[in-house]
Order: sequence, then C-alpha cells, then structure tokens
Amino acid sequence: MKRLAFIFYFLPVFALSASHEYCTDMFGLPTTGQLTDFEEIFAHLYEHYGPQGWWPVTREGSETPQYIKSNYERRSREEQLEIIIGAILTQNTSWKNAEIALMNLNTKNLMNLDVLAAISETNLGEIIRASGYYNQKAKKIQTIVAFLKKESLAKLEKLTIPELRTKLLTVKGIGNETADSIILYAFNGLAFVIDSYTKRIFARIGLSNESIAYTDLQKQFETNIPENVALYNEYHALIVSLAKEHCKKEPSCSLCPIKHSCKTGECIVIIK
Ligand code: SF4
Repeated sequence: MKRLAFIFYFLPVFALSASHEYCTDMFGLPTTGQLTDFEEIFAHLYEHYGPQGWWPVTREGSETPQYIKSNYERRSREEQLEIIIGAILTQNTSWKNAEIALMNLNTKNLMNLDVLAAISETNLGEIIRASGYYNQKAKKIQTIVAFLKKESLAKLEKLTIPELRTKLLTVKGIGNETADSIILYAFNGLAFVIDSYTKRIFARIGLSNESIAYTDLQKQFETNIPENVALYNEYHALIVSLAKEHCKKEPSCSLCPIKHSCKTGECIVIIK
C-alpha cells in the first residue's frame, strides 16, 4: 500500500514534466536537461492556465481593452500609450477599476497625448474616478504625458533597457513596478515585473523571502529563466492569476497547480 501511495504522490509531477515540452520552444526554455526551479514553476503554471493575453488593449471598433492570447508582437503607438496610461491607472487598485477608467477615456476620445495634455487635471480626475486615488492619478497621467511629448515614444524605443528604465524612473509617480510594466508590455523590453503577489508566492514556495528588495528578486528571476520577452510577459501574468485564484492572503493549496513544487503547499496525497 505504501508503494501505491508513492506512485500517486509523484504521478502528477511526472505527467506535467512530460507535457512541458510543447511550450519550451516559444519561451526559450531548455529542451534537454533539468529546468531551474523558476522555469519548472513557469511550466506548471502555463500548463494549467495557458496564455494570458497580457497586456489587454483596445482594438479598433471597441472601447474595452481585450486580451489577445499569444501575441508578443511590437505594439502600435496607440497601444503603447494605452498601456502606459493603464499602468498608472492600475496602481493600488484592481484591473477591473482601471479598465472602467480606460473605457471612459476611450469613450470620450481622450486617449491621445495632445488631448490628455490639454484637459484640466480636475476634469481628467473625474473621468478616471473609478480607478481610485483619481486626483493623484490625474496628476501622474499629465506628468507622464508631458514626459512623452518631450521624449516621444519613437525616441524612447531606441534606448537600451537600462537607459529606458532610468528615464522612466525620473518621472514622478513611476516606480520600479510601473516602469518595468511599461518596458515589458509597452516596449516589449526585457524587464521582469515584480509585484507584491510575486514576493508573496515565491516566499511561500521557498525560493525567496517576502522582505526581499524589488531588484534582488528581479535579478533572481532574470538569472534563472531565459531572456525571452514572451516568457517574461506570460510569467508575470500567470503569477497574478495564481495569486487571485489560489495564493491569496489565506492560501488555498489543495487545488493549487504548483503545490508539488511549493514548501507551503499540502503536497502529500495520502491513500489509505
Ligand atoms: S501551494 Fe499554497 S502557498 Fe504554495 S503557491 Fe500554491 S496556494 Fe500558494
């Protein structure tokens, strides 16, 4: 009976390992040899949730941002602007609230640098009220808009990632997470996005600790997974899905797709 319990405990791990192969090419993961712990966790999450379609952007004929799966193409200027504004709107609030604010901007045809620069801060605040902290966010949006009008998206795109990051961090209201979200999702640049979900999950897994500095955890990811924009794009989005579904403040480990790789998870299946 003990032997049977051993088989059932490890079976899901073996099954997942075999099926990782289909996603290795697209994300630059090694096809032979062992995956790093960080790669293994990505493979399990991708296996379970599939492509996430980040960052959602509004397509022609629509006013709502859409998730387009497995699209890692260069963004149009309109999409870049919407992602940058969205990255500010989603600070300290859910995407659902940020999305309402984006829809209001789209409905009023305000998603344009000149228009956003011309509107009064008070009016802008009212339009994006749903995103919370709307007065602060209106100020931040107008600050980044002034920055983009001066620097231009075309010029920023030609910078190296460290140069772009340094420039973005000079803009008031843009911190590490927002800067990296903009680099990764608006400019398709290699910057792994860390957020509080990432810190919480990887501390629980046992690969990090919750008080780790932003750039230290980012470095851990960037040294343990291939330099691949599609991989960075999906991995951050998958971490957010896991945090929302299972790894909440109170984790629900029993159905978690990475419980077999997590120190905190309830990994043992007891067969009596
Ligand atoms: S097993 Fe539990 S603690 Fe670990 S990642 Fe999953 S939900 Fe979080």
